[in-house]
Amino acid sequence: MKPGILQWKIGNRVVTTLNDGFNPASVDVVQGLSREEAIRIQRDAFRTDDPKITINLFLVESDKHPPVLIDTGMGFIGGETSGRLLSALEAVGVTPEEIGTVLLTHLHPDHCAGLTDGKGNAVFPNAEIVLEKIEHAFWTDNNNFKDAPDEFKGYVALTQGSLVPYKGRIRLFNGETEVVPKIWSVPLYGHTPGHTGYRISSEGTSVLIWGDIVQFQEIQSARPDTGLAFDVDSAKAVETRKDIMTKAASERLLVAGMHIDFPGFSFVRRTEGGFRLVPALWSDFA
Ligand SMILES: [Zn+2]
Repeated sequence: MKPGILQWKIGNRVVTTLNDGFNPASVDVVQGLSREEAIRIQRDAFRTDDPKITINLFLVESDKHPPVLIDTGMGFIGGETSGRLLSALEAVGVTPEEIGTVLLTHLHPDHCAGLTDGKGNAVFPNAEIVLEKIEHAFWTDNNNFKDAPDEFKGYVALTQGSLVPYKGRIRLFNGETEVVPKIWSVPLYGHTPGHTGYRISSEGTSVLIWGDIVQFQEIQSARPDTGLAFDVDSAKAVETRKDIMTKAASERLLVAGMHIDFPGFSFVRRTEGGFRLVPALWSDFA
């Protein structure tokens, strides 16, 4: 499979969607919506009954600063359908050594496993890792998982292991702040405790990279009160999703998502009872 990449101009920044592949999923993880209704929405949108979760990562380049990578995908755990970040980066002409900063939206393995090669080595040897303090505190405290099933503890170990080779160059922030020049953190807590989006604003244009506001994009747009088993706090995730989708729809914001179908840039339109994602036209940002 050839790498999927697409470049967008946001003011004087170039934001490249790097497709990492996809994860096959199941409607069985849907919460607060019947299986029949979930499948009906999938079919109505010309999707397979069981969703495939697209994984996008975003590279932000400017003349003055080293490239910034937002999330790292599945990496060495990607199997046949994902873990394609490095070939996508190569297609852009950027080496892992050149990445100056990795911003993380949250610490689920489909976002952070790509930090290491699975043998304890950093994939981005010169990068500073930047993430929300609340998120880091949650996943690095084993007391939070002492009653969790073994399988989940395995995920936690994977997450913790992804940070190990970066010891001493992890920078934590809290709340809304300019994390690197022209990129602001946007708290979107719920899916995970410190789940965070990043707003890139340059010369009057901006995009909000909203992380995992949707994972099953058709189902969770049409029915924003739908949680997934992956949510740490489903009720809070629902509230956050409704708030940010309402804001995006009323302010006509350009958004981008790790799990919005490639190339991942979209607008949000209100519908009866929910929302619909309207893909952004690439030529408007060329
Ligand atoms: Zn995710």
